[in-house]
Amino acid sequence: PNPRRSSIFWGAPVTLEDHEQDAGSSRSDGVVEDGIAGCIGHTPLINMRSLSEATGRTILGKAEFLNGAGGSPKDRVALSIIRAAERDGQLVPHRGDTIYEGTVGSTGISLATLARAMGYRAHICMPDDQSREKSDLLRALGAAVERVPVAPITSPDHFVNLARRRAAEHAAARADGSRGFFADQFETPANWEAHAAGTGPEIWRQTGGLVDAFVAGAGTGGTVAGVARHLKERRPAVRVVLADPQGSGLYHKVKHGVMYAPTEREGTRRRQQVDSMVEGIGVNRVTANFEAGRDLVDDAVKVADEQACRMARWLVENDGLFLGSSSAVNCAAAVVAALQLPPGSVVVTVLCDSGTRHLSKFWKHIKDMGLEEHEATDLFAELGLEK
Ligand code: PMP
Repeated sequence: PNPRRSSIFWGAPVTLEDHEQDAGSSRSDGVVEDGIAGCIGHTPLINMRSLSEATGRTILGKAEFLNGAGGSPKDRVALSIIRAAERDGQLVPHRGDTIYEGTVGSTGISLATLARAMGYRAHICMPDDQSREKSDLLRALGAAVERVPVAPITSPDHFVNLARRRAAEHAAARADGSRGFFADQFETPANWEAHAAGTGPEIWRQTGGLVDAFVAGAGTGGTVAGVARHLKERRPAVRVVLADPQGSGLYHKVKHGVMYAPTEREGTRRRQQVDSMVEGIGVNRVTANFEAGRDLVDDAVKVADEQACRMARWLVENDGLFLGSSSAVNCAAAVVAALQLPPGSVVVTVLCDSGTRHLSKFWKHIKDMGLEEHEATDLFAELGLEK
C-alpha cells in the first residue's frame, strides 16, 4: 500500500449549500479545457454504498460514463488511437482523411465525436443486433454507418473485417489525396496503453494505493489489460478478476487455459457471436489487447443475463445509478469477487456507460421482466451473500 495513506480519503458529503455557494470541484476550479478532448479522463471513483454495505467490503465504481466526449472508456482509447496515428503520419487533420472502425458502438461513438473535433471523418461498421440508440447517435454525429448482419470473425463480412476492407478501398474510391485509416481497436496497443497511462494510474491515485482487486469485463480486453498492467506494477498482489457475460468464451479461457469448447450438440455450428443481451463485453476469440493482459488475470466470474438485469435495477433503486448492461455485469462480478476477499477489502470496477444508451434493448427487457425490488435483493443471496 501507499505508505503515505492508511485509509481511503472520502470526499466530504455534498450539501445543498455547496451548490448554492458554488463551492466548485476539481473539475471546475480555474481550468478551461481547449475543446472536447480535454474532457476525457479524470473520471470520479464512486463508492457504491448499497453494494459496500451489503458486502462489508468497499466496492468502488470508476465512472467512465462521465467521459465527456462519447460517454464511455472508449473516449480514452479513441484519443490514444488518433494521436498515435497522427504521430505516425497516418492521419493528417483537414485532409479529408476518414477513420474506419468495426465496433459494437461505444468506440464508434467516441471516434465519431473526436473525428469531428480533430478534423476527420468517421465510417463505422457495426452488427445489426446492437441497440438502435447507438447507430442513430452515430448518424447524428455525422458518421457514415453500415449495419451488417451478424457473421463469424472468419467471414469477410464480419463488421471488423468489413471496416478493414473499407479503409483499404478508401484511396481508390477518392482521388483527392485523402487517406483511409483503420483504427483496429481489437489489435492495436494504443488501446490498452490508454488504460495503462490513464485509467490505471487514476484508480491508484484515487484509492491512495489501497486497492485489493480490480474487476472488469473484456470486449477488446484493453481495459483489463491496461489497468491490470499498471496496478500490478504498483502492487503485484492486486487481484484482477474478469467479469464475463453468459455465452462468452473468456471465462473458460481464464479458468482452463483454453477457449470455450463447443458441445457435441452445437457441433460445427459453434456460436461465433456471444449469446447474451449484454453489449460491449464477452467474445469468443483472444484479441491482442486481451493477450496483453492475459497473464495478469487471476480469476473470472460468470454473470448470467438475468443477474445483470437484476443488478442494473438494484443500482437504480438503491444508488441512483442508471447504467448499461456491461456495467451491471461488472458490478455483479465485483460483489462475487469482493466476497472472496476479507471484510474491509477494496474492490474497484468500471461503470462503462449510461443506461440511456440501452433503453430500447437491455432496459426494455428489464421493464418487460416486471422486476420487483425484492427480486433484485434476492440476487445477493444468489451471488453468495448470506442474508
Ligand atoms: N462496456 C462497453 C459498453 C463497451 O462498449 C466495451 C467495449 N467494447 C466494454 C465495456 C469493454 O471494454 P474493452 O474493449 O476495453 O474490453
